[in-house]
This record gives sequence, C-alpha cells and structure tokens, in this order.
Amino acid sequence: MAKKWVYLFDEVAEAEKYAGSWEGVRGLLGGKGSGLADMTRAGVPVPPGFTVTTEACNEFRTTGKFPEGLWDQMLAALKVTEKKAGKKFGDPADPLLVSCRSGAKFSMPGMMNTILNIGLTDQVVEGMIKLTGNPRFVWDSYRRLVEMFGTTVFNMDDEVFEHPMAEYKSKKGYKLDTEMTAEDWKAEVSTFKDVYKKHIKSDFPQDVYKQMELATKAVFESWMGKRAVDYRKATAISDDLGTAVNIVTMVFGNMGDDSGTGVAFTRNPSTGEKKMMGEYLMNAQGEDVVAGIRNTQQIAEMVNSMPEVYHQFMDITGKLEKHYKDMQDVEFTIERGKLWMLQTRNGKRTAASTVKIAVDMANEGLITKEDAVLRVTPDVVDALLHPQFDENAKKKAIVYAKGVNASPGAAVGQAYFDADKAEKMAKEEKQATIMVRPFTKPDDVHGMIASQGVLTSEGGATSHAAVVARQFGIPCIVGASMIKIDLVKRIMEVDGNIVKEGEWISVDGTTGQVYVGKLVTSAPSLEEQTDLLTLLTWADDIAARKDIRVLPDGRKAPGVQVWANADYPKDARRARSYGAKGIGLCRTEHMFFETERLPIVQKMILAETSEERTKQLNLLLPTQRKDFDGLFEAMDGYPVIIRLIDPPLHEFMPDEEKLFEEVVSMRVKGETKGLPEKEKLLAAIKGLHESNPMMGLRGVRLSIYMPEIVEMQVRAIFEAAADCSLRGIVVHPEVMIPLTGTVKELEWIQPRLERIAKAVMEEKKVTFTYKFGTMIEIPRAAVTAGEIAKLAQFFSFGTNDLTQMTFGYSRDDAERNFLVTYVSQGILPKNPFQTLDREGVGKLMQMAINDGRRTRPDLEVGICGEHGGDPESIEWCHIIGNNYVSCSPFRVPIARLAAAHVALKYAGKKIVEDK
Ligand code: PEP
Ligand code: MG
Repeated sequence: MAKKWVYLFDEVAEAEKYAGSWEGVRGLLGGKGSGLADMTRAGVPVPPGFTVTTEACNEFRTTGKFPEGLWDQMLAALKVTEKKAGKKFGDPADPLLVSCRSGAKFSMPGMMNTILNIGLTDQVVEGMIKLTGNPRFVWDSYRRLVEMFGTTVFNMDDEVFEHPMAEYKSKKGYKLDTEMTAEDWKAEVSTFKDVYKKHIKSDFPQDVYKQMELATKAVFESWMGKRAVDYRKATAISDDLGTAVNIVTMVFGNMGDDSGTGVAFTRNPSTGEKKMMGEYLMNAQGEDVVAGIRNTQQIAEMVNSMPEVYHQFMDITGKLEKHYKDMQDVEFTIERGKLWMLQTRNGKRTAASTVKIAVDMANEGLITKEDAVLRVTPDVVDALLHPQFDENAKKKAIVYAKGVNASPGAAVGQAYFDADKAEKMAKEEKQATIMVRPFTKPDDVHGMIASQGVLTSEGGATSHAAVVARQFGIPCIVGASMIKIDLVKRIMEVDGNIVKEGEWISVDGTTGQVYVGKLVTSAPSLEEQTDLLTLLTWADDIAARKDIRVLPDGRKAPGVQVWANADYPKDARRARSYGAKGIGLCRTEHMFFETERLPIVQKMILAETSEERTKQLNLLLPTQRKDFDGLFEAMDGYPVIIRLIDPPLHEFMPDEEKLFEEVVSMRVKGETKGLPEKEKLLAAIKGLHESNPMMGLRGVRLSIYMPEIVEMQVRAIFEAAADCSLRGIVVHPEVMIPLTGTVKELEWIQPRLERIAKAVMEEKKVTFTYKFGTMIEIPRAAVTAGEIAKLAQFFSFGTNDLTQMTFGYSRDDAERNFLVTYVSQGILPKNPFQTLDREGVGKLMQMAINDGRRTRPDLEVGICGEHGGDPESIEWCHIIGNNYVSCSPFRVPIARLAAAHVALKYAGKKIVEDK
C-alpha cells in the first residue's frame, strides 16, 4: 500500500500515531494543518478539508513529481470533503470551491503561496451567480483566481494583469476597486484570461482538478522560492522541513441575508474583561469588516438577528478558550445559516489585560496559578507600573534623540539645565520639569527628585543619574550623546534643532526616546491594580516554597526573596507596599547631601583635629538616628541593611573647578572679602583630589582612615534600633561595610564598631539580633571570601563596582563610548552593567558564595547592585544560591515575578557550585 500522504482534518489521531508526538504532527502537517486538525478534534466547525504532508512536499522536491499514491489520496479526500460540505467540486449547481494554502511547521508569514477560489470556471461562475445573487462578487472572485493562478503557478509578473486593469479603470474614470461594477469585473475576467493565454500559451484551465493539481505543485515549489529561502536563512529554519498544503473548503459570508462574517476576541483584549468583544457584518466578505466601509454590528446583537448561530458561536468560542486555555482571537463566517470558524489563535493583548486574563483564568480553574505567573513576563509588570506614553501620540511624534533607557516610564516637563533651577521651578513655580545635564553628581539629586524625568547626554546604565533615577522611580535617559548641551546659552541641540531652557520635552525612559513637546501619558499605581497584586502574591508563594532549591549539603531551601534599596523612610514604605521583604541597601551618604546637613558634613571633613571632627559628627548624629528610626519603623519585622559611608570625600565638597574660577575672578577684581576662606577651602579640596577616586579613599578605606564617621553612624543605627525596639517595633539591623578587599580591613574596623553596638544596647538596656557584614565589590574579596566570612556574617554583592573592577571598565564612562560598540560588534553579549556577566563577574560571585559558606554555613547572601532588578541576573542569583536580591522599590514587583519564574524553571534543582 502506498504511503499515507494526505490527512483529512478529522484524521489527527492517525497523524499523531504516525508522527509519535504533537511536535511530530506539527512537522508532518505544518502549523496551519495541525491547527485546523486540532480545532476539528475540539469539535469546532472548521470548513472541511485535508492536508497534504510535508513528506509529500519533500518527495516532490527531489523527484519533481507527485509521489506515488498522492493524487489518488487527494481525490479520495476531496470526495469526503464534498460530502461534508454538501457541495460538489466543479458542479455549477452547487459548487465546492477550495483554497490551496501553504503551511510549514514554523510560521513563515507571506513567504509562500496561497491560491483562493479554486474550482471557479466559466460554467461554475454562472452557477455561483445564481446561488449568491451577487454577480459582482463572483466575477471579482474569478478574476482574482485567474490572476493568482498566473502569478503563482506560472510566475507571471503581477504587472501584466495590473497594467490592463489600471488602463480600464482610468478609461472609466474610476479611482478605487470599489467603483467597479459586476459588468466591469466580468470584462476584466475576459481581459485577464486573454493575458493568461498570451503568456502561458494555453487557456485558463476549465478542468477544476487540473486547477487543484497545479496549485498544489505551485505551493510545494514556493518552499524553494527566493523569498522563502531568504526568510528561512534569516530565521534559522531548516530547508529540509518542507511545507504542507491545505485544501480547505471556501465558505462565503455574502450568500444572502442568512450569511455573514466577523472577527472577535473571547475577552476584551485591552482591559481583559471576560466579555466577548467583536463585530460582524451580514451578507458580507471578511474584507468588508476590516475595510470599515459598512457599519459593523457588535457580536452581542447577533442574539437578535440569528439567535441559534449566536449561541453556537458563544459555545464554540467558550470551548476554544478551554481547549487552548487562553483568550482567542477568532475569525468566522456564516454561510447560509451555518457557522464556520476560519481561524483561532491566542489573541494579542495589552499589559493590563495580560495580567487580568491570567488571574481570571487561574481563578476559573482553567489554568494553574503557576501558569498564570508564567504567562506574565517581567516587562508586562514594568509597563504597568510606570506612566506610559500613548502609542498613537508616539506614532505622530518625531524622535528628537535617543539614549540609554536607564529608568523606565514616561515623563513630560519643561527642560532645565541645572538641579537648582529644576528644583526651583518645580517647587516654587509648580512646574513639571525635566532635568537635563551632561551627567549628574550627588549634589544634583535634589533637582532630580523634584523633576518628572532626567535626561543626560553622557553616562550609562549605572551612571549616577541612572542609579538615582531608578532608585526614585524617575524616568531617565542617559548617554543621549547626539545631544549637545550648552550650559552657558542654556540650550540643547541635535543637528541644528535647538530646545531652549523652559521648553517642553517628553522623555520615554522605557525606550530611550526623547521628543520635543508634550506627549499624552497615563499613570498607573500598584495599589489600584488588584489583579497584579494577586498575581504577585502567587509569585511570592511560589518562590517561598521550602523545597525550591537544594543546598550543596542536601538540605532544601526556598527561592530568592526580594528586598529593596531604600535610603529614606518614604522609600522604605513604598518598598514595603511593593512587597519588599527587607532593605538590602541604604546608601547613608545620600542623607549627608541634604541642604541643612551638607555644611556640617563639609566642616567635619575639613576638621583639623579629631575633637573638631567629633563635634561636627555629634551634630549629625541626631539626624542620622532619625533617618534610621524611620527606616526601622517602616520595615517593622524585616531586616534592614545600612551601609556605612562609601563615596570619596570630595563628592561632598563644592566643585573644585568652579571654586577655582571664583577665587581667580576675586583675585583679578581685587575683592578680598571672603577670599582667604575660599582659598583655604580650595586648598583643602585640592588636598582631597585623587586621580582615580573610584579606586581611592572610599569605602572601608575611608572608615579606617577616618573612623569617627562610621563610629557615629553605627551609634546612630543602634540607638535608633534600640529606641524602635523599646517602642515595640521588631528590628533586625545589619551593618554593611563597603568595598572590602582584604579580611584585615574587617579585622581592623569591625570589632571597634561591634563594641559600639554592644555599648548602645547596654546603655539602652535592650537587646535585639543584628549582623555585621560586607559588600563584595572587589575581585580580591570574592577570591578570599572564605577568609572574609570569618568576620562577615553576610555578603552583599555590589555588582556595579564588582563589574567595574572585574572588567576594568569605568562604570561612569564605558557606556558612553566603547561599550556600545562592544555590544553591537558581539564582543560582549549584553551591557554587563545591566545584565550580570555570568562567566566572569557571576563566576566570582559563585566562588565567593561557596567559599564563604564553607567558612560560615548560614552566611546570608544578597545582591544590591543594579543587577538586583534585572530578571536574567536574578536567575543567576537563584542558581548560585543567593538568599535575596535587592533593587530599587519600583523594580520590586518585577523582581518578585522574576524570582517566581526562576523558581519554577529550576524547581527542586541543586544550587550550582563552581568547580
Ligand atoms: C555596587 O557597587 O553595586 C553598589 C551597590 O554600590 P554603589 O553603586 O553605591 O557603589
Ligand atoms: Mg559600590
């Protein structure tokens, strides 16, 4: 017996048996064929038909002939199809027309051939006209068939048909096809047939079987057509797969008042509401619905005009949702009172409806909570939490500049070129402002916080502007290097297009695009998004399961928790409301920049004696204590990691260059009032100057060099914790020492600080658990982690610095020059300041965790660099055994979802140790 080359749509079970799996069926029958078969199996009325296998295609391609038995099988399948459709191929009285459609395993949209209306001949046309009473439509269909046949089967140029048609239309004075009458189309059929004969040297086939045979061969051949080959090359689809051919009964919605056609979504694709949404037209073709020429009716109205069909439609679409377990986008046609489903696919949807549909479907029991969590990607959450620009507004607007999309969200405001002005306009004039700078520094933060958005022409994803903006959830673009900012003229310019200070601009931190003018935005909030809140709770439950990971010693452990980086009580409150389970990093120095504190900080730095320094620090102590008190209160019951001072001291001082200019100008003008003080200050700042401040006197080095500052900080932390504890708040302070490179540094500083901690608890007569730990930001610390863990009770990977130090790339400069080239040239797969470099930086982390835990099995490990909010990096943290990731409050929901995704992906797997 000949091999089976043809499967009717209801023979899917046989196909499955032969192919061994659904994947195999998809390979054998192609995506479209298997889909039609699957719908048929689900009890959906699909226009009857059959699929010629990809194997037949591959045979044909080698031999140039139909394989033995194929044609007979096609004829037999056609007979069954005729019976099911109740029509006969080639019979003018009630003709069956079919389409011949390509369909490979992987979708190759528009790359191969499809021929519609096969089965129309001069005689059949007459019968169809009688049946439909619509000669215009029938003649139009026939001329389309002649044209499609000529161009796809015989590779005739479109132009040879289009040219006479254009001539005809112009002679008649028509502009559009819609102006063509039945007589016009009839005349065109005659012309098209002449054109066909002239080129092919034979008449357009009046034998409907010949039409089907030639069409099938043409579809097979289109697999090796240039378009298809190029597409496969570009998408890495193998040439060996071949295409299937689907012969499908044509159904028509324009066969009278009991016919119609429409499109629908089983749920609202923009809100997710569980309500059918769609439209249809009676006595019309699919094109009419899409073209919007006639007024369509809502699906709900069908209940009045065709109640039976309506109920059947609702029933079928309900089944389709159940079968595919997702919202469906369907196309249907009603032909003389009979409903046919032409297509169903998972519908495209907005971010909001993605979440609602996932949560609703889980609540309806259609999918599991795990499925629901997996269906929502982190970028969907991102989109829901940041104000977004209206898509239509964006389409109409012209992009002014592009930079690194450092902090997502949409911001509209008036451009101001320095922090003071931006803050002043925002606070005093109540203006929406965008702070525009070449780059930002710690003393620009007030301007950033006051602004709706931040735009810089320099810097990368971990530049100061980017880090701070993400921290505060301010939309931000950095490194928009095509923008030239003139701080003197107070303008910015791109290719001669000037934006003056005070002009409106729109900044899209999600895409990195800058627009001139005001674009429309919408701003969502998490509290109001109940479905998202539900989904995130499910995500937390998944990550918190006690058996998600297996530790190297065989014990079971949960997945990663999500903590937040927060410097102020209000950030901590936000972090908590966003679901953070702790504070992983409080950068205490940000508190020093507050307007009333900065002068004290400067005096403290410039103090010439330890007494003088302590005096200034004593002034700072109460304010620091108050800051920490607020943090502990906001995080009642959760750990709070407070990092001791980290940046180089010059960052707290006035700008050296500016001060120098002032001094010179005073000297030139002969002004003496205040000059000696300024000169002294300048000398002191010069004294603090370092060639490489990021590798200089900062972090733990500064603490050892000037221990009074951190002594004050530790006292403030423990006094605040004690006060809170006495008020009934549960505190878990964790003191973090930054930039450690050798255990000796910890040996020097940590015992001094621990003594203060103990002393405070004794003074206040209260005890609580606390930890001392360190950041791992220097490769040497990672390599000697086993030693470091002797003192450190916890590690937190500062992957901004660790990436900088491991690659030797400056985190402030690399992204605005070579890093972009490195990524575009494939030297680096991604920007390592955004996504952890697993082979290098990630490997160091893995080593550090292993060695650290060998010394201290219960070592707590986290990450607080920018990578803590990046889903790919979170995955790595899960794999190597981090206890938590810490990121800006605004990224907490995304991280919660990412933590659940990775927990499900690696559920029950062992933590991977380095070799
Ligand atoms: C880090 O280096 O990753 C870190 C969190 O510290 P900072 O960004 O403050 O240097
Ligand atoms: Mg750091």
